[in-house]
Amino acid sequence: MFKPGYHKRQVLTHGIVMAIKITFLGASQQVTGSRYYLEAAGLKLLIDCGMFQERQYLARNWAPFPFDPQQLNGVILTHAHLDHVGTLPRLIAQGYKKPILMTEPTVELATLIMLDSARIQEEDARYKRKRHKKSGHKAPHPVTPLYTTEEAQHTVPLLKGFEYNTPLTLNDHVQLTFLEAGHILGPASLLFEINDGGQIRKLVFSGDIGQNDKPLISDPAKIDTADIVIMESTYGDRNHKEHGPVVDQLETIINDTYKRGGNLVIPTFAVERAQELMYHISELVYADLIPDIPVFMDSPMAVDVTEIFKRYRSYMDQETIKLFQEYEPPLRFPGLSLVRSVEDSKAIKQHKGTAIIMSSSGMCTGGRIKHHLKNNITNPNNTILFVGYQANGTLGQHILRGAKEVRIHGQRWPVNANIAQIQGFSGHGDQEDLINWLGNMNPKPKHVILTHGEADSAKALTQSINAKWQDISIKNPGYQTTLEF
Ligand SMILES: [Zn+2]
Repeated sequence: MFKPGYHKRQVLTHGIVMAIKITFLGASQQVTGSRYYLEAAGLKLLIDCGMFQERQYLARNWAPFPFDPQQLNGVILTHAHLDHVGTLPRLIAQGYKKPILMTEPTVELATLIMLDSARIQEEDARYKRKRHKKSGHKAPHPVTPLYTTEEAQHTVPLLKGFEYNTPLTLNDHVQLTFLEAGHILGPASLLFEINDGGQIRKLVFSGDIGQNDKPLISDPAKIDTADIVIMESTYGDRNHKEHGPVVDQLETIINDTYKRGGNLVIPTFAVERAQELMYHISELVYADLIPDIPVFMDSPMAVDVTEIFKRYRSYMDQETIKLFQEYEPPLRFPGLSLVRSVEDSKAIKQHKGTAIIMSSSGMCTGGRIKHHLKNNITNPNNTILFVGYQANGTLGQHILRGAKEVRIHGQRWPVNANIAQIQGFSGHGDQEDLINWLGNMNPKPKHVILTHGEADSAKALTQSINAKWQDISIKNPGYQTTLEF
């Protein structure tokens, strides 16, 4: 456990140098639960406040924050994904009342995601209690949601949106600039410029770094230079480009499933991935490369997010803006049904013939996808297609790793459906993208701290960074480690 506080250290040749202290409270040698406690120049800041989603780390979501939330000067979000914002309502419930800074689209997306998360947790808790009652199972703890809808609603008024590339003054010594990270709509890398007795020290939190040339999404910004970089490493050991264009892979999988007369079920993240899938399916529909089959987007949140994408078109890449203006709008096409109500969701089961069913959550940890999996996973004509990262310990990862049988809603289901995966869909850059992103910096940073990646990814990325730039010191801190610079 660390003790928060403001420290100074003496450096002989440069007079007083302010220490920059970072405590890693999540996404440390694993992927979810991004939370970094930053102490610098008299400020105590929390960068992201994400939810842990790997089964073995879920208890961390319930642990009290290892600092006093009321003593924080501010919270800053890189982007709206649940693993970056999902425990904010707990911070507010524990007394944090100050502004939470982020980009403008992130305000809207984070609002949706927190409210959706509260609703899913309430629903899951209710469903679990009902199941326990029916089966006579005695749970060791009371089954309650991590936070309620009301607690999530209390968080919303604190969310404040800012533009990219416009420095904000946090105090006399510290400026913050949001830079495009190319990951979802409105994602940011955070550039802190800390004035240390006239010398500017630059600290960058990469946030989640996207791929270049993705549909819908702008490319990540090229950052000139930094002294210290906290960098994600999700795909530090992989190369997406080996697998060919995702739209071609999608076309093959849809047509193969259609020939077998099965359904195609796609667990999808509601933010960005759902819209990107729609974009690619619309390409196939407009080009007549797949048969006329119904396409269900069964996620009220994905439907809401799609509306936000349409409202914040100016944040997308130029090509998409043009499609919206001209013809073939990528988020609306023949055959697509956007499903909100529970009744309509249940009715999908009654559909005869091949359908494409997209639903969330993306790692099958909750939500409506679990019902679609139960309805489809036992039939060998169906395909379950993974288009996103599956963290260790999630239901999605069990299925993807070839489990013969999985547990869903307290029952065992044999896995007979075809299991497929498309890698290139990732909202995260691969090893080459990450190296290129760092390569834009000149001079190179002295310190790179890898986060948001399993140990193997971080290790592979460390080796490839050091193969190019031997002088960069690279660390991969564990949970609750504090580093000082
Ligand atoms: Zn993300």
